[in-house]
Amino acid sequence: MKDYRSYSFWLDDSGDDLAPRPALEGPADVDVAIVGAGYTGLWTAYYLAKADPHLRIAVVEKEIAGFGASGRNGGWVSPFFATPLAKLAESHGRDAAARMQREMFFTVDEIGRVCEAEGIDARFHKGGSLWLSTSPAQTPRVKAVLDAQRAFGFGDEDWVWLERREALARVRAEGCLGGLFSRRYASVHPARLARGLADVVERMGVRIYERTPALAAGPGGVDTPAGRLKAAAVILATEAYTVQLPGHARDVVPIYDFMIATAPLPAAFWDEVGWRGREVLSDGRYLLIYAQRTADDRIAIGGTAAPYYFGSRISERFERPRALFERIHDALRMLFPAVTGAPITHRWGGVLGATRDWHTCAAFDPASGFGWAGGYVGDGVATANLAGRTLTDLILRRDSDLVRLPWVGHRSKRWEPEPLRWIAATGVRVVMGHADTVELGTGRAVRWKPALDKIEEIVGW
Ligand SMILES: Cc1cc2nc3c(=O)[nH]c(=O)nc-3n(C[C@H](O)[C@H](O)[C@H](O)COP(=O)(O)OP(=O)(O)OC[C@H]3O[C@@H](n4cnc5c(N)ncnc54)[C@H](O)[C@@H]3O)c2cc1C
Repeated sequence: MKDYRSYSFWLDDSGDDLAPRPALEGPADVDVAIVGAGYTGLWTAYYLAKADPHLRIAVVEKEIAGFGASGRNGGWVSPFFATPLAKLAESHGRDAAARMQREMFFTVDEIGRVCEAEGIDARFHKGGSLWLSTSPAQTPRVKAVLDAQRAFGFGDEDWVWLERREALARVRAEGCLGGLFSRRYASVHPARLARGLADVVERMGVRIYERTPALAAGPGGVDTPAGRLKAAAVILATEAYTVQLPGHARDVVPIYDFMIATAPLPAAFWDEVGWRGREVLSDGRYLLIYAQRTADDRIAIGGTAAPYYFGSRISERFERPRALFERIHDALRMLFPAVTGAPITHRWGGVLGATRDWHTCAAFDPASGFGWAGGYVGDGVATANLAGRTLTDLILRRDSDLVRLPWVGHRSKRWEPEPLRWIAATGVRVVMGHADTVELGTGRAVRWKPALDKIEEIVGW
């Protein structure tokens, strides 16, 4: 059997023996079948069971609950919706885009509320976010985020620019030139959230069948090695892994992301660095880094290294790239030279999903009873909760404010066949990586901007 603890620091530290629940043993019949026990599947099960305790709900999971990105991520509970507000405004109007943002703000708090109400020890902490500028070229990029939010009416109570001295008072990061603070963000222990949520929904009567791969899923049911799970409503909650199901190979591209975690750091380190608010932390480089100070005083930091493997392959072989771990470690040492020498206890990777137009989506077709949510492009911790609430309303045919949000029912076109898919997914990463190298070395990188813009124009994002 797999050593599930080895897949991330969070799974290792989940306080759970990770013993798989029983698999589905034979054909069955339910009202709602959900494929995938990550946040999307589990939140959908949670809100459905809350809304109607009599519904027969089953979740089939290829491995164990929280095995995918939900048990491996950076733990940023981020109100950032992956599709830019300006793009939502173009298609649905300014008010709809602002409603989306407000719902995302609410969603962060909703996760904290459910953890509290259900006794999930997910270490939810609403410490806000700090997005630093660590090179002159980064400052306008970080400030552009503020401008974009201001354009939709979000003000100082949501986002505020901190001058260098104010930013350093929060976190003494090397090279800090200032930063953007938002009180809207929180952090969690990702695997404790996923595992805790699985226990809660199980107690509510939802059946979770682990080590039960869906071989195919579509209207009317899910095929598994044990037989068919018939259902009036079927939800695909497999994010990046969706590409492995027949008929879905080009729905998203699976993109890899990697993280490392230090051992708990001593009080002397924290005296030097501060970071008492435990804000989630990033800077303005193109290939994003994201960090949190964990509840047990480690730093867990990841980098959007974003490798894509030809043919949308997903394999555990891709989860241990030494050079990329070293790059993340370099970024950590660059921000906090005092961390040098601290042991790195865990290194891991996971996959996330991006649709062709980078548009996140929750959709359900009432005629066929088939639905899907995902394409979160690395911002799924909060958005998957919103997906769960939205899919619940769609499945139960409730005409709520949620089902009228602009991401609902969005249809992205499919990704191109190879090799075009590989060229698009890899080209952006290579240019961004070079841009960061130049910027962080010399602060000259503005000249990369036209190249990035050109690629985005060709690809059509
Ligand atoms: C390294 C990393 C860092 C990240 N950091 C952040 C962050 O800080 N903040 C943020 O907002 N987002 C972050 N993300 C993204 C976030 O984790 C995801 O968007 C979110 O977890 C997606 O949840 P999900 O339930 O849709 O998918 P997943 O958690 O991937 O769950 C899908 C589940 O489906 C199962 N499955 C797959 N195929 C089948 C099948 N055929 N049959 C049955 N089951 C199947 C998988 O085993 C898995 O458990 C990060 C992602 C990664 C990889």
